[in-house]
Amino acid sequence: MPEWTLVPERKATSHVYYSMTKSLCGTCKTAVDAKIVIRHDAVYFEKFCPSHGRQECLVSSSAEWYLDCLTFLSEHRPPKRVMKEVKDGCPFDCGACSQHQQKVYLPVVPITSACNLDCPICYTINKNENAHMLGKEEFESILRHLAEDHDELDIINFTGGEPTLHPQLLDFLQMCRDAGIRRLTISTNGLKLLDESYVRKLAALDARIVLSLDTFDPAVDKIMLGANTVHTKLAVLDLLEKHDVATTILPAVAMGLNDRDIPQLFDLVLKRPNVRSLELHTLTFTGQGGVGFSRAARITIPDLHKRLEEATQGGLMWRDFVPSPLAHPHCYSICYILLIDGGFVPFARLMSRQKLYELLDDSLYIEPREKLETIFRDMIDDLWANPGRIPEGEAVLKTLKKLLHDMFPSDRPVSLLERQKISERVVKAIYIHSHMDEENFDVSRIMKCCVGVPAADGSNIPTCSYNVLYREKDPRFSSRAAPEGHKNVAPGVSPGLHSVAAPRLRGNHGTANHRSEVH
Ligand code: SF4
Ligand code: SF4
Repeated sequence: MPEWTLVPERKATSHVYYSMTKSLCGTCKTAVDAKIVIRHDAVYFEKFCPSHGRQECLVSSSAEWYLDCLTFLSEHRPPKRVMKEVKDGCPFDCGACSQHQQKVYLPVVPITSACNLDCPICYTINKNENAHMLGKEEFESILRHLAEDHDELDIINFTGGEPTLHPQLLDFLQMCRDAGIRRLTISTNGLKLLDESYVRKLAALDARIVLSLDTFDPAVDKIMLGANTVHTKLAVLDLLEKHDVATTILPAVAMGLNDRDIPQLFDLVLKRPNVRSLELHTLTFTGQGGVGFSRAARITIPDLHKRLEEATQGGLMWRDFVPSPLAHPHCYSICYILLIDGGFVPFARLMSRQKLYELLDDSLYIEPREKLETIFRDMIDDLWANPGRIPEGEAVLKTLKKLLHDMFPSDRPVSLLERQKISERVVKAIYIHSHMDEENFDVSRIMKCCVGVPAADGSNIPTCSYNVLYREKDPRFSSRAAPEGHKNVAPGVSPGLHSVAAPRLRGNHGTANHRSEVH
């Protein structure tokens, strides 16, 4: 072929510049541009800080998943209450500021800075000395502001430190019940729950436990939590099952450490009737422990999809997951499964992913409202019309028909709470939540954050901003918080909550358990 007919050859490139966002310097936490670059199917942030040079961070091990998420679009509902005008730019005006794009769907209340563990992976900041204990009046005020800001508040989450160390936690739970909040969740390391009388009291209040069970391997537990808690947590799980306390298993997952526990964790969720869900958190390298933890442990959402796919021999694939419409699509990856005859079928194989996404439009979890009834009826019709569409068709039909009959009987009204309990007998959820640290911080994500840390003055700080930038300046939680932090506080705003990037803390300065969660 003559040379002049040759089309210039275009070499496949392993490097694609995709877009850009704003992130933080991993060292000084000042705002820096981040190029979003795709290399060998993975997505990275490439950043440059004038003081600390070039930096790079893996944000997704799959470009396909990263881009797929961005095709899910949802309406955002900005917060009613604006506490700060834009001055320094996101994320330095949290409160929320007038730029914030999403109201709070999950308030996470840290009620104490005290903790009975000292985890090397701890991604927040706490102190036991002069420990902060949230007062009843402050909590009343938080509840009042939340009620003013929301037409309906369905969920609240208590964290710490370790929230079970707060002597008034049970009172707080009762106050939430009196305020009509349906879902009361407590994120805990579980040590206090060895006390069966305490579990009984939690069960009486219908509280839900989010248990930070990371691994079944004591050696890995020691590396991640600095203690051997496995035996205790398994005993606690038995007590929670005995008293039928709705439970979520929440491991923070580290590459090369406890990612190999995922099959066993998933199995545990399937087998224990009171365990409603598995919430996997990707390890975060911020806070008193996380900042010093080995970066070899960084793991991203698609890695966890792969572990689940391997654990279930393809029973779960990444396309069985959808983002939450209430947050940025890279924050949550959510899968619901229907239990049938000892097995399960992901919802995304029974309905379109778009329908599943829309089901999550009202709250961070699926609520059995009328639109779920409609979708279940459509699924039944579809399975009748196409009986061979999925191998488990017959078992799915049987389960769905019974579920519909029990949740939406024609002869009596059933409350939402009751329906939720009925559905949880045969429906379980798998959530992957990827919190940010200073290295993978993405302003486009934080602006859509729906998980807020509320304070008594009505302010609310998106959780990832709070963990990375604000908590270290809050004297209630940080023994390093400089008194001058108060200088930046806006009038009417809690001391320390609204000041910006402080010198980063290195090493472990206290003890902590703090994992906010949906269920
Ligand atoms: S995260 Fe939200 S509240 Fe905070 S500065 Fe950015 S836009 Fe404002
Ligand atoms: S807490 Fe962090 S990861 Fe979760 S929704 Fe907010 S910004 Fe996203």
